[in-house]
Amino acid sequence: MAEVRPEGGQMTTTIESQYHFTAEVKSKGKQQNRDGWAMTVGWKLPGSKFDLTLYGQDWAPIDDYEVGDITTIVINQSNLKKDKDGRYASDYFWDLASIELLILDEDGEMVSVIDEIGDMPVQAPPKPDPTPKPTTRTGAADEEPPPNPAALGACHNHAVDFIIHGVLPLPEGRELVSWVRELRDRFYREINQAPLAPLHYCYEHDEERRQGKSGAWGHLFPADGLIHDEDIWCLEMQSN
Ligand SMILES: [Zn+2]
Repeated sequence: MAEVRPEGGQMTTTIESQYHFTAEVKSKGKQQNRDGWAMTVGWKLPGSKFDLTLYGQDWAPIDDYEVGDITTIVINQSNLKKDKDGRYASDYFWDLASIELLILDEDGEMVSVIDEIGDMPVQAPPKPDPTPKPTTRTGAADEEPPPNPAALGACHNHAVDFIIHGVLPLPEGRELVSWVRELRDRFYREINQAPLAPLHYCYEHDEERRQGKSGAWGHLFPADGLIHDEDIWCLEMQSN
């Protein structure tokens, strides 16, 4: 459920019904005026200046979490707050749908994320993307459609998996949360939302292949300044 208000010249407001994010538990305690808990996390609803506070009656889901824990959280939109018109995400209450410590060990036991990261071998940071971003065809700079929350959630999970399994470990000097976010955003923009390449595309050289007389698909190797007697082709491997 998304609400879009394309008002001339104004910012477009989109409210998703669910958010999935990584955040640190900043405070946790009893609600002021009634039973139940209140927990503030280091994450802001879009358009909000304040860290999100979640409320609940049942303590069980949050019992195991302490201030400073880094968690992955899913929240669902709940009721509209009193005297609010629903224009902003912060006009609503948000229910905690799930909370997990960012990293579990092999037994599924919760492990302090800081300890876990400390034990990880430090490897070279991943190569930067060698392909420069193509400029947008429309020329509408910095505009992208509202994110798809389910796809973003999946990218978040992949980012966490890749970090945990050491495929894209936390680079030295980087903060875990910012690294998760960077990977999530890059997976989303550069993979999830990337257009499909044509059939027979050469991903290694970022070139389209064409079919030759022999029936094979290939592209000329990037010019290296040397004169070749014959053109050198990068041919598609036959998969059978
Ligand atoms: Zn190639």
